Amino acid sequence: MNKLDSERIADALRRAGHMEAATPADADTVIINSCAVRRRAEQKVLSRATQFSPRAAKDPGFWLGVMGCFAERRGVLLFDDIPHLRMVVGPRRQDEWPRHLAEAEKGRVLAVGEPDGPDEPNGPSEPDGPSQSDGAAIPAVGVPRGRPARVQAFVAAMRGCDNHCAYCVVPQVRGAESSRPPREIVNEIRGIVQAGVREVTLLGQNIDAYGRGTDTDLASLLEMILTHVPESEGLLRLRFVTSHPRDITPRLAHAVRDLAPRVGQHFHMPAQSGSTRVLAAMGRGYTRAEYDGKLAMLRECAPEALVASDFIVGFPGETEGDFAATEDLLARAKFQNCFIFKYSPRPGTRAGDQLADDVPAAEKSRRNQRLLSLQQAVGEERSAALAGTVQTVLVEGVSPRDPARLIGRTSQNLIVVFPPPPAADATADATAAAAAAAAAAGKLARVRIVSGTALTLSGVIEP
Ligand code: SAH
Ligand code: SF4
Repeated sequence: MNKLDSERIADALRRAGHMEAATPADADTVIINSCAVRRRAEQKVLSRATQFSPRAAKDPGFWLGVMGCFAERRGVLLFDDIPHLRMVVGPRRQDEWPRHLAEAEKGRVLAVGEPDGPDEPNGPSEPDGPSQSDGAAIPAVGVPRGRPARVQAFVAAMRGCDNHCAYCVVPQVRGAESSRPPREIVNEIRGIVQAGVREVTLLGQNIDAYGRGTDTDLASLLEMILTHVPESEGLLRLRFVTSHPRDITPRLAHAVRDLAPRVGQHFHMPAQSGSTRVLAAMGRGYTRAEYDGKLAMLRECAPEALVASDFIVGFPGETEGDFAATEDLLARAKFQNCFIFKYSPRPGTRAGDQLADDVPAAEKSRRNQRLLSLQQAVGEERSAALAGTVQTVLVEGVSPRDPARLIGRTSQNLIVVFPPPPAADATADATAAAAAAAAAAGKLARVRIVSGTALTLSGVIEP
């Protein structure tokens, strides 16, 4: 969501006449987008932002801003945390960035909370601070103009979250759940596909709940997008994240199966824990048995699909027995991928305010490592089993780690690297080879898998 927000804002600022600097040192204004999900993410923002403070102190023409969830959570206090900070803008006020920059001419800008609410969740605002919101809404299109379009793009289908899991700061900083109208989403996708995007990932904190209370659900949204933006226009693949285990339905799973190959055969359905007791304390709204049931349902209704998960280790009160239940889930479920986080108490959340952070840091690290190594074994086993198969890969471009190879993903979200197709002219030089690689980007390739590590498959293009 933050990547998408950064792109949208960069795009809006370009449209408003601002230019992108080559490096932060060349910039007149630096805006740092921030995350508040864990304390570490916030600390990174503080250390990055304060690096710019000395310059902001010396040079009144240089402005420093922080936007995103940490800006929202900390509010006016961020001006104390970061010397010479000029702008603090929360996620619900980001569409007004061109205005915020105009306001910053006069002094500090604090814009947090709902667009029409007061800007003071954390204290009184500066007298010259808050900008009011009636600013020009920025267009939703996420592909920067005048730059080569990327193959993959995110599109927000929903904003906010109504779930209030005990550990999570998201509802506090991003506000209540809302779904964007289907027509708006379809139009945005058509626009970015015309600009060259070939794969779209719909975003929502609880995307299974898309359209709650209306007559469009996620299954019908997927269908509508595929119909209105046909393959001939360039939309090759459609994905969505994140699925909440409580709300995922056989109807959605069947839709994913039936809409293959354009809809990716992949679900991201975070379990967070394998222990019913911990799940209850987290307020997740399902038991371990119910999660297992949802996994079985997905495997039955969408047999080609792989499932990825998130886990939090060291939630308050997590015992050895609770952790063993998580290990058991992870070992059995054979997830496509797992994102594993050490619990971080967040102010303003139920767990952060009311539960002691009682699992020692060293124990959190041990549990974290243990889950990582279990998942590593799952990944290695799957990669080995895929050797010899031919996979359809949507090529994203040159691998960032190995410029001699291309990188792409399968429908199941597995990463594949492979040498580019040979240039048509055998005597072609490096430039021609690079051009051949660039020409492959955004297209589907058939790749025979040769080997693989836990997270990356290696292969060769089928003639
Ligand atoms: N809406 C998504 C997740 C959004 S936050 C969902 O419900 O699945 C992304 C991930 O960060 C979560 O899945 C969780 O694993 C992790 N996370 C959130 N709050 C956390 C906290 N306080 N400490 C550690 N990890 C956290
Ligand atoms: Fe946070 Fe839970 Fe909402 Fe996900 S569903 S964003 S974890 S409150």
